[in-house]
Amino acid sequence: MIDPRRIRLLNENHDGQGAVIYWMSRDQRVRHNWALLFARRKAELMQEPLVVLFTLAPSFLHAPLRHYGFMLKGLQEVEADLKALNIPFVLLQGEPERELPRFAEQMRAGLLVTDFSPLNISGKWKKEVAQQLTIPLYEVDTHNIVPCWIASGKQEYSARTIRPKINALLGEFLTDFPDLEPLASPSQQQPVDWNNVYRKLKADPDVPSVEWLKPGEQAAQACLDSFLQNRLASYAEQRNDPNAGATSFLSPYLHFGHISAQFIAIRASKSNAPEADKKAFLEELIVRRELAENYCCYNDRYDSLEGIPAWARESLKQHGDDRREYLYSAETFAAAKTHERLWNAAQRELITTGVIHGYMRMYWAKKILEWSETPRQAFETAIFLNDRFALDGREPNGYAGIAWSIGGLHDRPWFDREVYGKIRYMNASGCARKFDVNRYIARFESQEGRKKTEQQTLFP
Ligand SMILES: Cc1cc2nc3c(=O)[nH]c(=O)nc-3n(C[C@H](O)[C@H](O)[C@H](O)COP(=O)(O)OP(=O)(O)OC[C@H]3O[C@@H](n4cnc5c(N)ncnc54)[C@H](O)[C@@H]3O)c2cc1C
Repeated sequence: MIDPRRIRLLNENHDGQGAVIYWMSRDQRVRHNWALLFARRKAELMQEPLVVLFTLAPSFLHAPLRHYGFMLKGLQEVEADLKALNIPFVLLQGEPERELPRFAEQMRAGLLVTDFSPLNISGKWKKEVAQQLTIPLYEVDTHNIVPCWIASGKQEYSARTIRPKINALLGEFLTDFPDLEPLASPSQQQPVDWNNVYRKLKADPDVPSVEWLKPGEQAAQACLDSFLQNRLASYAEQRNDPNAGATSFLSPYLHFGHISAQFIAIRASKSNAPEADKKAFLEELIVRRELAENYCCYNDRYDSLEGIPAWARESLKQHGDDRREYLYSAETFAAAKTHERLWNAAQRELITTGVIHGYMRMYWAKKILEWSETPRQAFETAIFLNDRFALDGREPNGYAGIAWSIGGLHDRPWFDREVYGKIRYMNASGCARKFDVNRYIARFESQEGRKKTEQQTLFP
């Protein structure tokens, strides 16, 4: 049963007669996908064909080959899995606001369904598509457990304010998924010419694919299984140790929609790991992640200094002229060439593996604030580096994480100090108290160390 509160209509058109198109965008999976389930149900009720469509923009917020490669391999799996269910899959290359209305007309579609993202670019695409269509465009939040617009109708102040709202609704939304029923007859759709898709791609090859994390739904499930079996039971105690490999490594899969947060939450809740570990993990997966979605949904300046709280902006302004002991450009940060081995190791982790451990991510962003000419420059550098190298970048969690580290978002004012103002401070000795920093540095400092880490894979 699909909760109707998960679905909203983005224009005022009524269902027409004709094919149901699911415009798959952010949630690139076949299993546990409310948007696909809704489209399948509509097709059944209307006795119309169902088509899944993906529009591949030639460039998406400057995503490099690392990201396009991960996504396209996942989509190849989507095509194969849909084929097994007799559901046709179409991939169109071009801008969605041009390609979609044209395709809908060509298909004589009766309605369009898409998934939800709070990012501005997605909102712009949907608005333009919705305006051009004469049929409905439904949006289904299949990324969040509690639909973003149901959890709260305004920007939340912090985890403390959104937590009770989400918890009050979890019983209603954290439900099992029905099976996706196959269509009766095999699809006549021509398979996607993937070689041609790769040939036409304009992605930057300077950030290459990573080998240690395989893309796609199956790999995401395997990653979840390995986390539940081997790592969840030590999550509460070890998640802040970057050497322990104790976290889930699920963020790239969540970002590309290869796995559903709701499915992860159900599996984690049912596991026999200690309650404290489950609680700590579900706090991150549900409350913190959905708080980031809330921030981007209700604050369209989420990727700039204008998005941060007024107290933080004011405090950073007051410290704008403070002397910075070290100053680096975005290029020096990108090349991991600062004076500090610990910071450089984190940047190298990002370059080599496409992720930074969560604890080091905070340190990494705060030092960018400390060593940049202005907070604005720091904000831009952090977003640039995160989006360029991180497999889970271009994502509400990234924008909120950077705004938390550099701009006090979802945090409170701390003691006033140089450069940081009232933004919470972090230093290397704090890291040394938490984990073996020399071991971390060694893992990413040398060429051999980096290669070994990548080959061995980061998690057991
Ligand atoms: C400066 C900075 C930048 C960040 N950039 C990103 C990013 O681009 N993409 C991204 O997904 N996360 C980002 N985070 C949040 C967090 O660091 C990562 O989600 C986490 O490290 C991913 O590793 P994991 O999947 O092993 O996490 P786990 O600890 O296993 O957590 C499970 C899931 O919970 C969610 N989660 C965990 N921590 C947070 C958090 N602090 N805020 C919101 N959700 C969280 C993620 O979806 C994660 O996959 C950033 C944090 C900071 C401080």
